[in-house]
Formats: sequence, C-alpha cells, structure tokens
Amino acid sequence: MRDLEFDQQHVWHPYASMREPGPVHEVVAAEGVWLQLADGVRMIDAMSSWWAAAHGHRHPRLVAAMQKQLQHLPHVMFGGLTHAPAVGLARRLVGMLPPGLDRVFYSDSGSVAVEVALKMALQAQLGLGQGGRMHFASARGGYYGDTWKAMSLCDPVTGMHSQFGAALQVQHFVPRPPIPFGAEWDEDPARNGLGAVEALFAKKAYEIAAFIVEPVVQGAGGMWFYHPRWLSGLRTLCDRHGVLLILDEIATGFGRTGTLLALERAGVVPDILCLGKALTGGMMSFAVTVASRRVAEAIADGPAPVLMHGPTFMGNPLACSVACASLDLLAEGHWQAQVAEIGAGLRQGLAPVRDLPAVQDVRVLGAIGVIEMRQPLDMARVHAFCRESGVWLRPFGRLLYCMPPFVCGPDEVARICAAMVRIAGWQE
Ligand SMILES: *Cc1c(COP(=O)(O)O)cnc(C)c1O
Repeated sequence: MRDLEFDQQHVWHPYASMREPGPVHEVVAAEGVWLQLADGVRMIDAMSSWWAAAHGHRHPRLVAAMQKQLQHLPHVMFGGLTHAPAVGLARRLVGMLPPGLDRVFYSDSGSVAVEVALKMALQAQLGLGQGGRMHFASARGGYYGDTWKAMSLCDPVTGMHSQFGAALQVQHFVPRPPIPFGAEWDEDPARNGLGAVEALFAKKAYEIAAFIVEPVVQGAGGMWFYHPRWLSGLRTLCDRHGVLLILDEIATGFGRTGTLLALERAGVVPDILCLGKALTGGMMSFAVTVASRRVAEAIADGPAPVLMHGPTFMGNPLACSVACASLDLLAEGHWQAQVAEIGAGLRQGLAPVRDLPAVQDVRVLGAIGVIEMRQPLDMARVHAFCRESGVWLRPFGRLLYCMPPFVCGPDEVARICAAMVRIAGWQE
C-alpha cells in the first residue's frame, strides 16, 4: 500500500474523521520558508507550522544545537537530576521575562503548560487560605489547548463544549474583549468589556482561582486582536478581587505580534505565564509555565507543599538546548525588523480584498495577517489550491490567515498575499 493510502486508512490527523479523512500532502523535507512535497512541488509555509517555525525550517543554528546535544545527553529524567540545557534555558527566560516572573516549570506541550498553570493557580489559592476558589474564568473567543481543563476554558461555541457536554466542567466566561486593537479606547465599562469582568468578579470571585487569557491576540479561537487597555484593566480587577492572572503566550510569544511578548503592549505582568510553540523554533514539542515568586511561595505554603506535576520528558535536554539556541537567535534582534517588514507587506498585499462584499474584516498585527470572511471557506478547495499556488495555508471556518516565518522575504510575503487574495475572491 502506498504511504498516502496507508495514512488515510490508519493515521489520524488533527480534528479529522477516519471514515472521511481530508486530503493530505506528503512533505519530504523543509528548509527556510519552504516545504518540499513528495512529488517535487514546493510550498511556502505561511503558517510557520502552526506558529512554531518562527526562524524558518531547519535553521542551521538550531540544527547544530540539537546535533551537539544529541552527542552528549538526548534525555534524562528530571526528578533529582538536572543539566546545563535546562539551567541555561531558565536563565535566558528569567532574563527576558518581566521582573518577578522567575519560577520555571518545563513540560512537553502547550496544552500541558496550561494544565500546569491552572494547577499552580489552584494550589497557590489553597496556600493563600482560599480553598473555596476551585473554578476558573476566561473571555470568550479563547483557545488554550485540547486537554480537558484547557478545553473547558476554550470558547464555548467555537471550542468543543457541545461535543463533550456534561463531561466538561463549567467555567465562567465574559464576552471577548470588544474594542479592537488600534481602535480608540472607550472608558465606559459597559462598552469596553471590563464591566462584564467586574460584574462576574463581584458575584463569583470567591470561587474563582484564576482568569486565563491570551494577551492582545486571541489565536485559534478567532484570530481576534483586542485593545491592550482591556488587559491592563483586567489586571487591576484581578488584583482587587484576589483572582490570579494567567497569560497564555503560547501563540503570541517570541516576537510574533511585533513585541517580544504581547503582554508588553499592555505593560501587564501576570502571576503565571505559559509559553510554547516557537519556544524551540518549531524543532520540538516543548513548553514552559513560569510563575511569580509569590505564586511559588503560596504553593509552598499549601497543604501539599509541592507542585503536583512531573511529566516523564520534563526538561528534555534536546528541547532545552534547541530552545536556548532559538532564544539566542532572537536576542540578536533581527526579528524586529523582519516582523515589521512582514507586517507592512501583509498590510499592503491584503488591502485589495478589504472592500469585497464577502469579506468581513482584514487585520494585521506583527507578522500575523487575517482575512475574516462572512461565510466559511471551502477547505478542500483551499487545500488543493495550496499546492497549485505554492503557498501553504490552513484556514478554519471563516478565517483565512497566515503567520509566516520571520525569514520570509518581501517576494514570498507578496506571494502569500496573492494566494490569500485569490481565495477570498472565490466568494461573491
Ligand atoms: C496552540 C496553543 C495551545 C496548545 O498548545 P499545544 O502545544 O498544541 O498543546 C495553547 N494555547 C494557545 C494560545 C495556543 O495557541
């Protein structure tokens, strides 16, 4: 049986059916912005392989870091043992994060990093004598991963709530931050969204351990860019009501939105921060949850003074070493000009569809470009067109979007835009 046939019969892909699996292209190699298919066709990876390959594929410095580590210590358990890559990565993270965020927990994926953050918040509340706070809150339109607790906080409509029904714990939701990024801020809490947060906290804060949100850019839950003032207002309300603030920067972290972290736009420091995706430059699945000293101390004051989590592959040396190399690349600072240039290219290249009747909105922030359609896109047709146009895109629902690798040049950005403009033009 040919590989593609076997794949279709036996291998699950993300959010796919095994009875009617969607079409797949077979990738044999990747370099820089390019994916090479088995039949020789090349496509630009306009998705950075789901936000991860920020420096492009197989960046020589990342490959070298992993190869070097492979020769000494590919893996070792983290219980009772440590190693230079784990310590080096923590040093780099603590150095780059806002002061006070300096207790680093390693895990294997973004969803797990979110689970760990939620556990940290609960255990910290226990330590603070707030054992009644066993629930969480979020804004609609969020995405925090596919594990159970993370899923329960994803948008209850576009997420998977209807599918899992009563098996999902009910959480508290406020509307998504209503004022778009770049629009004028409105001080009226009834219109800027903070009134809803205040009302929720006034009634329910006694049972809320933490509020979790993606700062400024909501990713997979709707590709929505919102006003940073909402985030600073949220921080104030959390403090007032004893609710811990968890920021999920798994998609936005490491330069994607134009600042190293999206939270910088609001000048907000969370109690707990999640990072993943581009952490290893897309080379390995890896994530971190970073807590403030205060949270770590509160956990240590709790009935179980240890944080109750410890994955088998925690602190994997290969992942840590490649993450160190990726952060060193970022520290050289070229990403800033690259992201700005990609953003300018996207703004210009996507402008032609802005006034199409089928298009609801076009928005660009950092190196993220979004065309929001009024009707859902024809996924199978887009999939086939990607091969034809040489641009890899993976829309969902009404959202056609890209977040190219930072090494994407102006011609490649123009090519991505041309493909997106073509697709948006299919709908009358
Ligand atoms: C992708 C993502 C996650 C989940 O990460 P996985 O590595 O897929 O488990 C969580 N939060 C945000 C904001 C994400 O974009």
